[in-house]
Amino acid sequence: MKSHAKVVVIGGGVVGCSVLFHLARHGWTDVVLLERDELTSGSTWHAAGGMHTINGDPNVAKLQKYTINLYKEIEELSGQATGVHLTGGVLLAATEARLDWLRGVVAKGRYLGIELEEISPNEAAELMPLLDPKQFVGAVRNKEDGHLDPSGVTHAYAKAARKLGAEVERFTKVEDIVRRADGLWRVITNKGEVVAEHVVNAGGLWAREVGRMVGLELPVLAMEHMYLITEDMPEVAVWNAKTGTEIIHAVDFDGELYLRQERGGMLMGTYEKANKPWSEYQTPWNFGHELLEPDIDRIAPSLEVGFRHFPAFQNTGIKQIINGPFTFAPDGNPLVGPVRGLPGFWVACGVMAGFSQGGGVGLALSNWMIEGDPGADIWAMDVARYGDWATMAYTNAKVRENYSRRFSIRFPNEELPAGRPLKTTPIYDLLSAKGAQWGVAYGLEVPLWYAPEGVKDEFSWRRSSDFTQVAKEVRTVRDGVGLSEISSFAKYKVTGEGAAAWLDRMLACKLPKPGRMTLAPMLKQDGRLIGDFTLANLGPLDRDGDGWFLAGSGIAEQYHMRWFERHLPDDGSVHIEALGAKLTGLSIAGPNARELLAKATRSEVSNAAFPFMAMGRMDIGMAPCLVGRVSYTGDLGYEIWVAPEYQRAAYQTLMAAGEEFGIGLFGSRALNALRLEKNYGSWGREYRPIYGPLEAGLDRFVAYSKDADFIGKAAALVERKQGGKLRLRAFVVDADDADVIGDEPIWFDGAVRGWVTSGGYAHHSKKSIAIGYVPKEIADESDGFEIELLGKRHAARMQATPLFDANLERMRA
Ligand SMILES: Cc1cc2nc3c(=O)[nH]c(=O)nc-3n(C[C@H](O)[C@H](O)[C@H](O)COP(=O)(O)OP(=O)(O)OC[C@H]3O[C@@H](n4cnc5c(N)ncnc54)[C@H](O)[C@@H]3O)c2cc1C
Repeated sequence: MKSHAKVVVIGGGVVGCSVLFHLARHGWTDVVLLERDELTSGSTWHAAGGMHTINGDPNVAKLQKYTINLYKEIEELSGQATGVHLTGGVLLAATEARLDWLRGVVAKGRYLGIELEEISPNEAAELMPLLDPKQFVGAVRNKEDGHLDPSGVTHAYAKAARKLGAEVERFTKVEDIVRRADGLWRVITNKGEVVAEHVVNAGGLWAREVGRMVGLELPVLAMEHMYLITEDMPEVAVWNAKTGTEIIHAVDFDGELYLRQERGGMLMGTYEKANKPWSEYQTPWNFGHELLEPDIDRIAPSLEVGFRHFPAFQNTGIKQIINGPFTFAPDGNPLVGPVRGLPGFWVACGVMAGFSQGGGVGLALSNWMIEGDPGADIWAMDVARYGDWATMAYTNAKVRENYSRRFSIRFPNEELPAGRPLKTTPIYDLLSAKGAQWGVAYGLEVPLWYAPEGVKDEFSWRRSSDFTQVAKEVRTVRDGVGLSEISSFAKYKVTGEGAAAWLDRMLACKLPKPGRMTLAPMLKQDGRLIGDFTLANLGPLDRDGDGWFLAGSGIAEQYHMRWFERHLPDDGSVHIEALGAKLTGLSIAGPNARELLAKATRSEVSNAAFPFMAMGRMDIGMAPCLVGRVSYTGDLGYEIWVAPEYQRAAYQTLMAAGEEFGIGLFGSRALNALRLEKNYGSWGREYRPIYGPLEAGLDRFVAYSKDADFIGKAAALVERKQGGKLRLRAFVVDADDADVIGDEPIWFDGAVRGWVTSGGYAHHSKKSIAIGYVPKEIADESDGFEIELLGKRHAARMQATPLFDANLERMRA
């Protein structure tokens, strides 16, 4: 075994081998994979080997498509058969709600380049002869489904990597990992030590244990999973003889089952409700090529549905039941990327669909390690979407929930209950008493809307039980004044003598003067967005000396801290802190907001003294606060930042003072309705790392000519000159009883040309709005657009100027 390597990959399952292959293919050949046993000694060897292109997240779906297309290449490169059978498959719906969901999947496929086709149950039965069409209401055909040989694929990756110069050391167990003072990693094994610049944790079933070696508790849990294999079935033999083809794959969502042919019989896997975690706290090191004891009682309810939906199963015997463990992150997507605070330590774990996702994970990680960027939008898989709040108990609750709902529909207005409430602010009970219906962002409970007694969300693709109440909350803001809790924003404080120069390099905007704020896009080297913030220069306002305040997307706190810390100077001249729960927030907005604030504070808040984009310290009642004159509602408004111990007092003062102005509470759904009619985008929806500032309409906040050489400046100048490819646009949709939620296709002139990033109903303007990206060539057309919603195309008109307060009179009043 070599003593030094650029990269050590820990784990010889399908994921580790894919990472190794991609690193070598990308030109890093001084790389070694360490496997404690034979390759495939974790969850990989007993997998059912199914592969699918579809995924709830379109960006993950793209990587799944990449994975499936890769098998031919690694087979040719390695000379190792992968056993790929591209049989195609049917996705089955037994309910109308499920069919609506499938239509959404078909629609997404149109701009992802995934060919999906809605077919009737009878047509599905012609393709998959074992199903009873009477049990279903519709289906979708996917030609890119199939299955493969798990061991063949893993060895093909490893052999291809070796041919390119990478090394694989089997029977080499990593026992400890230690960071040296010079930043290199000592990877200590039972056979000696390797010193490496980078370490990749692809430990699969042992990813937690490998993480613990560097003090990391990864949110990963293994679950037992069962599939059965039948005796040979005459129906299968007849079909094979008649058509000369295998029986195709089927996913029966309502039965929570998947099926495929296995030799002369069938394989049926279940995601049962009565699921069971495996090795909740510690995965035994002596586990390897063993299986777990099957427990047919646990999967009996699923099998009952399966045997009804696929009656031929009633006449056959079960040859074998496989029960094996594999790992999940709380939301079921992989954990990939660099780990904040551990330079050179990377993870590629929690991959629950290794044969659909392993290639994409390897590609993204190798790009990231070599180029400094994953090369795709992989937010849905980024390890930084979780923070320390994703504890072991939280992960346990969430993974169990996720497993039991693996094939369940999640409606756009559906909040999942497991692992909650976890983080709450001091006014949680006060808002609950007012009927707050809670959602969750980065582990924190956030009020979505306020329900009258006895009303709650009815889950639906269409407008639902919250519609009239959200309209009322919007009216409160637009006609008087509303209060909302905004603690879920990420808040950062930047201090130190180098702070201004550092921010000038990190952010693309011009730095504001003391006591002022600005919108602050942040770019990557390739000139694309990596953040959007509100930046305030606290100057003399700051009690700890001159400092800066940043507010940004709450879900991206860890993601942004990882980026910030990576770029901090070594000399200690800049300090950045994520304030998290140390600072809570309230927002007041509406035409009466100033009068309300004036009543609640003794500070001068006239427009002259405290204009739009000012920031100041003021006491609200007795509570010391930092107040910014800005509002995402697009109305006259203020964001009030307050230490948690004062939040109740500030809230109660504002509510009492607001009584005479008709104050009411509004939640994030009303906020969405308000920001849509202002054409405001948000991080994670309109603003993502695949769009440039010009494309996203944020170029007006980019100080292209400022002296500072901000990150991404050169690329942003190129974008400005060449015009980029896309444009973000708002549309008014002729909708019926449903509004877009995001990821719907935008049609123009009879072809799919763009995609929706978000939308909803703008209650004040009484219009259904969709925001999304279209190619710049058609971005100035006003007509000819259609947006596909629940399987139907609706006419959409471009809305170039905001429907509300286009001249900014209300906001700057
Ligand atoms: C019953 C069942 C059916 C499945 N069906 C499918 C399916 O149809 N399609 C699909 O895509 N997926 C399926 N899966 C899931 C699939 O198996 C996983 O997604 C995949 O195996 C994950 O691979 P991995 O490389 O991340 O982890 P693992 O396969 O667990 O590999 C991790 C490797 O790391 C090694 N290792 C760990 N710690 C160390 C250390 N300290 N030193 C050295 N080596 C170490 C282990 O020995 C192991 O070989 C199924 C899983 C099960 C259990």
